[in-house]
Amino acid sequence: MNLFEYQAKDILAAGGIPVPRSVVVKTPRDLAKIKDGLFRSGYVVKAQVAAGGRGKAGGVKLVKTAKEARVAAKALLGSMLTTHQTGGAGVKVESVLVAEKASIVKEYYLAIVLSRKRGQPVFLLSASGGMEIEEVAETNPSALIEVPIDPWLKAQSHHLRPAISVLGLTPDQANELIALARKLAVIYLSRDLFMLEINPLALTPKGFLAIDAKISFDENALFRQADNNSLAVSNEVLLGRLEKKAKKLGVAYVPVDGSIGCLVNGAGLAMATMDLIAGHGQRPANFLDVGGGANRDQVQGAFELLLADKKLKAILVNIFGGIMRCDLIAEALIEADKRVKLSVPLVARLLGNNVDQARSILAQAKLADVEVHGDLETAVRCVCAKVAGSGGADGYSGR
Ligand code: GDP
Ligand code: MN
Repeated sequence: MNLFEYQAKDILAAGGIPVPRSVVVKTPRDLAKIKDGLFRSGYVVKAQVAAGGRGKAGGVKLVKTAKEARVAAKALLGSMLTTHQTGGAGVKVESVLVAEKASIVKEYYLAIVLSRKRGQPVFLLSASGGMEIEEVAETNPSALIEVPIDPWLKAQSHHLRPAISVLGLTPDQANELIALARKLAVIYLSRDLFMLEINPLALTPKGFLAIDAKISFDENALFRQADNNSLAVSNEVLLGRLEKKAKKLGVAYVPVDGSIGCLVNGAGLAMATMDLIAGHGQRPANFLDVGGGANRDQVQGAFELLLADKKLKAILVNIFGGIMRCDLIAEALIEADKRVKLSVPLVARLLGNNVDQARSILAQAKLADVEVHGDLETAVRCVCAKVAGSGGADGYSGR
């Protein structure tokens, strides 16, 4: 889960990383927190959305007076912000961070990410920080220095010194940056983070300062991360309507951008199902894993969730009944259809426990447009043909 900048900065500050002074505005009443003369050097008014590229999209405003900051914050609050990372209609700005303006000598980039290639976290460090970092990563990747972090040894000064020596810093500045990076590694490892990014990490006349921060943490570690857990709960506003519903149901649901809704038991099978759909030239609308041990209410809820999704052109159910019973799936579908009418074709591949009962239950129920197959390949081809037939092929070549 991604955090907002102000939440990320709280975590950094608690771990000893310098961040600018700031106030958070969540309601029009909070505007009063931006008192006249609050900050001397000026104000940076920043839309809080869990996406990057705000500066280029008008989501970061630098102003001189508190009055201007109040005007800017008021305008941003509740507005829609579209950045290159949000796409389309953008996201609603639910809060605004008003920070003390720093005087920046130079912008660096410092992040810790999980390197899949190395199978361990790495620092990413660059003297070309700021708003063009993505371009730097593409056109001049050697400007991004990678320093692996050993999970047992943690980040030691001598691991970092060679990388930092090429940045052209004074010895004092280099030592300060090494100390900062080491604190960052402690935060990263101790809080089970996926990504921790400071961009820019500004060199100011008073030393290094984290001007912007992004954090995303590993939701699988929530059981041992009470602080992350409370942030996850407070950030549920970020989730879409269907994701919230899925979370309540206790099923794993991730929407993606295609048009074939999927209901599958087992994460691996769900991934394979999505791949097969793509291989047949269509795109799945979601990952939905009800798991092997889901009860009838959960499966029914999962069906209702799909039936209510207006962007679907068809639904593919793929159940390999090892623990799950196929008749339970059939009954849950019929119950769900009573509450949210099935309005698109549904193709089910049912195999395993009680598959014959399931077939006769579905045959008797006479739902609008339901087909049952035992073979996955056939089911996928069939559902993809239905979508293509409805003019739904969206040009995806299935790579
Ligand atoms: P992003 O565009 O979403 O990454 O938002 P950032 O918080 O990184 O801000 C974008 C840019 O605004 C930074 O790269 C800085 O150049 C500028 N900026 C942000 N805060 C300050 C500040 O306190 N002082 C100065 N001089 N520039 C700032
Ligand atoms: Mn930034």
